[in-house]
Amino acid sequence: MATATAPVKPARPQIHQTQLFIGGQWVPAMSGKTFDTINPATEEVIAQVAEGDAADVDAAVHAARQAFDEGPWPRMDARERGRIMFRLADLIEAEIGELAALEALDNGKPVSDARTGDIPFALDTLRYYAGWADKIHGQTIPINGNYFCYTRREPVGVAGQVIPWNFPISMVSWKWGPALAAGCTIVMKPAEQTPLTCLRLARLAQKAGVPDGVINVVPGFGPTAGAAIVKHPGIDKVAFTGSGETAQIIMRQAADQLKRLTFELGGKSPNIVFADADLDAAAVGAHVGIYLNQGQCCCAGSRLFVEDKIHGQFVERVVEMSRKRKVGDPFDPATEQGPQVDKAQFDKIMGYIESGKREGATCATGGKRVGDRGFFIEPTVFTNVKDEMAIAREEIFGPVLSVLKFSDMDELIRRANATNFGLAAGVWTRDVARAHEVAKRLRAGTVWVNCYDVFDAAAPFGGFKQSGFGRELGERGLDPYLETKTVTVSLK
Ligand code: NAP
Ligand code: MG
Repeated sequence: MATATAPVKPARPQIHQTQLFIGGQWVPAMSGKTFDTINPATEEVIAQVAEGDAADVDAAVHAARQAFDEGPWPRMDARERGRIMFRLADLIEAEIGELAALEALDNGKPVSDARTGDIPFALDTLRYYAGWADKIHGQTIPINGNYFCYTRREPVGVAGQVIPWNFPISMVSWKWGPALAAGCTIVMKPAEQTPLTCLRLARLAQKAGVPDGVINVVPGFGPTAGAAIVKHPGIDKVAFTGSGETAQIIMRQAADQLKRLTFELGGKSPNIVFADADLDAAAVGAHVGIYLNQGQCCCAGSRLFVEDKIHGQFVERVVEMSRKRKVGDPFDPATEQGPQVDKAQFDKIMGYIESGKREGATCATGGKRVGDRGFFIEPTVFTNVKDEMAIAREEIFGPVLSVLKFSDMDELIRRANATNFGLAAGVWTRDVARAHEVAKRLRAGTVWVNCYDVFDAAAPFGGFKQSGFGRELGERGLDPYLETKTVTVSLK
């Protein structure tokens, strides 16, 4: 008789890199300062990380500028750039177990999620853009007169990249992939909550053969290191993922130098279930749509619109699944949901749960902290939610679902679009014509039909309205890292 072996709990990873990575060197912050990065499951300090500020950013920009203006990266054969990027992906893949554990330790997400979700997606993204490196080219254009006119696609220059803490490794791949393929050089600031895997990836990039100065990583805080990147005249373009409030500050600060900007911001995405849908699949879609990554997803399906005819039975299923969701130690292979990333996010989410109760919504399940150590929150479902309540309007960024009832198509579209956000949406129906009609009428950058959170490196992602501008992933994701130059030659 075969004996079942319990899945092995991954080992605690080693911490190798805690310094700034500038011009290919590991250096302390010039100020000598460090900051603690915390394990959100235990609230213990994992490591002290060098705290970069304006002086360090200046050194990083100098290195990136030199690498761009004089170094080999933008000048080498494009296919060779691609080859180095493929090698980086291979090196990441070789360390997938260690990296998944490091991501879980710093961010709180289940190791299994990092290993089967975040990192494979990052590999796919790096390889997808490695494939683009030698396929970026211009056009010949038949202009009037006796001229030869063509365009060239050239790298925009030094890219400043400021990323959040929710998908640290994936965010690195979304930012480095198109920038490296285009021939840009990079100054990146990871989020203060999750600097460790980004630093590890910088080490692997160097090992893969990315020349010194092409990738520089300056951990630190937003108002110091982040703002220094945005304001530095040596940076040509800023790519930012995070909150709308920070994006507004960045836009104002970047205005003086008319820096190119791309923003990937938040959402309050509608996930819409019609009565004719496959309700088993829709229930899974509603569950994953809100709870993936502890609810810390910009595209979370946080407004669940359910057609009135099935509202009661469908909500029962969603509540039942929420109750069964396993919250706990990210290193336990059975865990489905880890802690929120930090105390500030935990407090913010608990504040929204209180506001939902205060405003008269029904807390059908959850609503409480789990345990007394670490930032764990129960999967939470609110019913009887009104459109004007804060929990129906504002991004909670946690495991809190607001269920809304609808009866009529036009009313549904109006309510689903009545938000300043426009990142994503889901539609569940067996009626093909209706699916396409809803997909057309929703003001959102991505619409998933009979699925949710299906991402692919080749499919562009980004927001309408205040969910951002510019697109990441896919061919469109290269555009922000390229300038188009027109060359006109007289043939007279
Ligand atoms: P955030 O402040 O927008 O942080 C995102 C990144 O921007 C971090 O690296 C942050 O640095 C940096 N930053 C902050 N202020 C800056 C400034 N003045 N100039 C340049 N960079 C700056 O987001 P948060 O405080 O972590 O989270 C707040 C809310 O934002 C969440 O509750 C959620 O609603 C939303 N959010 C959205 C996403 C998304 O994927 N769209 C991701 C994360 C958060 P620090 O390391 O110092 O924070
Ligand atoms: Mg941390």
